[in-house]
Amino acid sequence: RNAERNSILGGLIAMNEHPLVTEYRNFSPNSATFSARAAQVFPGGDTRASAHYKPYPLAIERATGSRLYDIDGHELIDFMNNFTSLIHGHAHPEVVAAIQHQAPLGSAYAASNDTQIELAELIQARVPSIEQLRFTSSGTEGTLMAIRCARAATGRQKIMKMEGGYHGSYELAEVSMVPHPQRAGELHAPASTPVDPSFPASVLEDTVICPYNQPEMARQLIQKHGTDLAAIIVEPMLGSMGMVPATAEFLQCLRTMSTEFGIVLIFDEVITFRLSTAGAQAQYQVTPDLTCLGKIIGGGLPVGAVGGRRDLMALFSPDSKSPVMHASTFSGNAMTMAAGLAAMRTYTNSDAERINRLGEQLRSGFNREFKAAGVNAQMFGNGSLSNILFAPNAPKDSRDSLAAMISAGEISQLLHLGMLRRGIYSAARLMYATSTPMASDDIDHAISALRDTLAELKPYIESENPRLLVA
Ligand code: PMP
Repeated sequence: RNAERNSILGGLIAMNEHPLVTEYRNFSPNSATFSARAAQVFPGGDTRASAHYKPYPLAIERATGSRLYDIDGHELIDFMNNFTSLIHGHAHPEVVAAIQHQAPLGSAYAASNDTQIELAELIQARVPSIEQLRFTSSGTEGTLMAIRCARAATGRQKIMKMEGGYHGSYELAEVSMVPHPQRAGELHAPASTPVDPSFPASVLEDTVICPYNQPEMARQLIQKHGTDLAAIIVEPMLGSMGMVPATAEFLQCLRTMSTEFGIVLIFDEVITFRLSTAGAQAQYQVTPDLTCLGKIIGGGLPVGAVGGRRDLMALFSPDSKSPVMHASTFSGNAMTMAAGLAAMRTYTNSDAERINRLGEQLRSGFNREFKAAGVNAQMFGNGSLSNILFAPNAPKDSRDSLAAMISAGEISQLLHLGMLRRGIYSAARLMYATSTPMASDDIDHAISALRDTLAELKPYIESENPRLLVA
């Protein structure tokens, strides 16, 4: 009876009053004060949805290398790396030097300059499929321009995107990002669903949704819609749904089918570009028509790019018969280019291999701890990119991932807060990215923080969500 009562009480404890949330509040009083001030100027207290978490995010004072320092004086190991974008962590000496060199020379000329061309040449030399490119100010703008290029090239309007995929902050890039069980429809023909009430019906009509990692279903959907499709846009790893790596067979199927139907195949490598110096496409050995980049290529400053086949990229040229319009105030600005060039020059193959190995060390250590604690969770991912999901097996697709996220409920948030209190900073959705200033010791530190967090959390899992325990 006691256990039953506890479980009912546990279920009734609102997240805000949970004892472990109180612990977090006690740990971060200055951040709490800060968040109250932020709420006066920002809706919900934050200027960026993805960086927000409950009860309030830690406010950061400064950062260097793999370390963040919050305004309550804690040192944290940064596994978030601004959502995977800081390949060298914070304030890498060569990036700082490049920015310091550039700042007095001016930040944006609306004209070509040396670093801009050098960074473009470096990317062109490293990624064989990128014959030409355009810089943009964000990953969002990169995927948007890729889609416009594909539409102009094919004269078609519809886009195929993956269920659970995210390609930026506009409707087309977010359709069916969250495959809500009640609205997602049949797996073999997923419904196009909005993420919020702002979505025009026309965007939903223009989007054909494909289940991730299901080559046979993809083949049938492309057979059905192929002659209407301008582009297929896909991430080689489903980032927003828990770092689910694509299977080679799936990407190969998309390649074959898009060639057959004259569809432009777009790889969104905004996140996955860090997996090698030539991106995930080098690992899979599948060549897209266009590639979208962002995050790491800006050295910590805002950036994006679209690049690919010369004949497609030629559509952006002012010499083209009817150029695709691409005007962007800060695209290729001198500061971003200087920082990006320094960051990419110092990102070598051996760096990529090393941080990928650190990622493996993290995953195997975390998985050992989950097993030892009898908690039904695992860390999945590839190379330097990882995500914890409360699931016994690797998710096959975005529906599997979402089901795991829903079943974990608040336990997942409590795990996040518990790790923060132990000096481990990750995305609230438990995404972790390793970076070059990290060492094996940092990974061990994270593993022991997980051990302690699980020991603290386990009684609450038992009373509040016992399905998450190994039977
Ligand atoms: N594509 C993917 C796969 C992303 O993860 C993101 C951002 N997280 C974007 C595109 C958009 O990039 P940005 O936030 O720079 O606009």
